Amino acid sequence: MFRTHTCGELRITDVSKNVTLSGWVQRVRKMGGMTFVDLRDRYGITQIAANGNKNHDLQEQCNKLGREFVVQISGVVIERENKNTTIPTGEIEVDCKEITILNESETPPFTIENESDGGEELRMKYRYLDIRRNPIKNNLLLRHTMALAIRNYLDKQGFIEVETPVLIGSTPEGARDFVVPSRVWPGQFYALPQSPQLFKQLLMVGGIDKYFQIVKCFRDEDLRADRQPEFTQIDCEMSFVEQKDVVSMFEGLAKYIFAQAKNIHFQEDFPHITYADAMNMYGSDKPDIRFEMTIQNLTKSFKGSEFIVFEQAQYIGGIVVKSCADYSRKELDALTEWVKRPQIGAKGLVYIKHENDGTIKSSIHKFFTPEQLYAVCKQYSIEKGDLMLILSGDTNATLTALGELRIEMGNRLGLRNKDVFAPLWVVDFPLFEWDDETQRLYAKHHPFTSPKPEDIALLDTNPKDVRANAYDFVVNGSEIGGGSIRIYDAKLQAKMFSILGFTPEQAQQQFGFLMGAFKYGAPPHGGLAFGFDRFVSILSGCDSIRDVIAFPKNNAAKDLMAESPTHISQEQLDELCLIIHKKDSKE
Ligand code: ASP
Repeated sequence: MFRTHTCGELRITDVSKNVTLSGWVQRVRKMGGMTFVDLRDRYGITQIAANGNKNHDLQEQCNKLGREFVVQISGVVIERENKNTTIPTGEIEVDCKEITILNESETPPFTIENESDGGEELRMKYRYLDIRRNPIKNNLLLRHTMALAIRNYLDKQGFIEVETPVLIGSTPEGARDFVVPSRVWPGQFYALPQSPQLFKQLLMVGGIDKYFQIVKCFRDEDLRADRQPEFTQIDCEMSFVEQKDVVSMFEGLAKYIFAQAKNIHFQEDFPHITYADAMNMYGSDKPDIRFEMTIQNLTKSFKGSEFIVFEQAQYIGGIVVKSCADYSRKELDALTEWVKRPQIGAKGLVYIKHENDGTIKSSIHKFFTPEQLYAVCKQYSIEKGDLMLILSGDTNATLTALGELRIEMGNRLGLRNKDVFAPLWVVDFPLFEWDDETQRLYAKHHPFTSPKPEDIALLDTNPKDVRANAYDFVVNGSEIGGGSIRIYDAKLQAKMFSILGFTPEQAQQQFGFLMGAFKYGAPPHGGLAFGFDRFVSILSGCDSIRDVIAFPKNNAAKDLMAESPTHISQEQLDELCLIIHKKDSKE
C-alpha cells in the first residue's frame, strides 16, 4: 500500500497513529540533528521529521532528497513543537521511520510554489509541473466543481446531455473554421464546429426539448487574453420557450453555480439593460456595473461655442471621476496619450476639474465662461474634488472610447474588485450590423436569431433598426454567454439568408439540412451558450482563460509542451492528396 493518508489529511487528533504517505518533496531543511521534509500531494503538505540522533542513516537519506523526488515515508504522527498556523496540517508532523525513493527528479525548471519564479512560457512548456502548483490545481478543482454543478442543475431541470459531432461542415458563428482534410474524399474537408448551433436546433426538431452539452468548440481567430483556438461551452437549447423562459432558466443555473462554487447567494433577479442603454451609459455591450461612472451625454451643453473640436463633433460625452480633481498636469497628459492610442482612437482629451476650494479648472476655459462651466458641474453632479473627462467625435466611436476610459479609471481607482460579482443581462441587440469594408450586413449574433415580432416589418425597409430576440449574460465586464430565440419558420429563415447576401443556392448548400428539417415541423425554440472557460476564470479571479485550462495554447496558438501544430510527413500529405506551398509555410 502506497499510502494510508494523503498529505493534507492528518490533524492533531491523529497523534500517535502509524501512517504511510506518498508524495513529492517540496523542500528539505536541515537544522542540526533534525531534517525536515515538506511532502506534497494534491491534498496538501505534511512535514516529515527525521531525527538524526535516533537514526543517523535515515537523516542522511532525507538530506539527499532532491526537489520533486517522489517518495514514500512511514512513521508516527506527533505534535509539532513549532506549530504552523498557515496550513491545515500545521499542528503535527510525521516522525519518519522509513523512507523509500519511488522516483528521482531532475531539478525542476521553476519553483513549484504558489508564487513561481517561472515565466509563463516556461510554465506552459512544463505544464505538468505547473499543474502541481496550487493556483493552477485550484482552478482545475473549481472547474470540476462548476461542471458538476451544471450537470446536476440541468439534469434536475430535465435537460439531457447529447453529444454532437466534431467532424462537420462549416458552421456560421462568424469566425474562421479549422478544417480537417478527408483521406477518403480527397480534396474535401471537414470543419471543426465553431459551436454545435445547427445540431442543437436539429435536436429540437428531433423533439429532444431540453438539450445541453459541455462541449469543445473551435474558432480560428486571432488570440487575446480571453480567447483560445479551442474552448469549452456550456451549450443549451430548449423548445416551446420565449426569451423570458430561457433567461430565467439560465439565470437559475448561473445562481446555482455561484452558490455551489463560491458560496455566493444572489437573492434578487439579475438586472436587464437594453443594448442601446448599455452603449449609451457604459460605452460597451458588456458593461461592468460594479461601479457607476456612467457616461453623460454633454452634446447639448457644449454646442454653440468657438471650440471647433466640439462644433465638429457628432457627439460629446464625459465621465465624472470622483475625488480626482487633484490629478496633476502630468497625469492628465499621460491620460491624453492613453486615449490617443490606436486601440482607443480618441483625438484628444478635455477635462474639467472642480477643485476642493470650489474653483474650476479646465482645458477648455478659453472657450467657455466660468458660469458655463459651473452650470455644467451642477447639471452633471461634478462635485468639489471631482474630475470630468470628456471625449468627442463620431457617436459610436466616442461612446466606445469613453467605455474604455471608464474601465481604465475603474482599474486605477480600484473599483473593479475581483471578489465582487455583478451579473446582468443585455437584451434587445440589433439583429444586424453593417460592415463598411464589405458594404454589407452581418448577423450580429448568428443567422438563426429571430427578429422581434414587432420589428419584422422593418426587415424590408430598414433592416439596421431591427432588434433581435437575443440576450447576453455579462459578469464584471466580461461576456460570459449569449443566445437567442431562433427562427423556426423556413420562409423567414430564407429571407434572413437573403438579407445577409446568400443566394438561395448558397443558403441551400450551407444550411440545406437545417432548412430541410424546418419543413418537418420545427418547434419554437431558443437557447444560449455560456463560455465555460471564461466563467471559470471570472470566478477564480484570473485574468486569462489559459489559467483555467489544463493544457492551453499560448498567444501564438501553439502548445509549447506538446509542440503543436507540427509538420506532417510526406506520406501523410500524399495520402491526403495535399501539397504544401513552401513559401507560405512557417517554421
Ligand atoms: N451558438 C451560439 C454561440 O456559440 C450560442 C447560441 O446562440 O446558443 O455563441
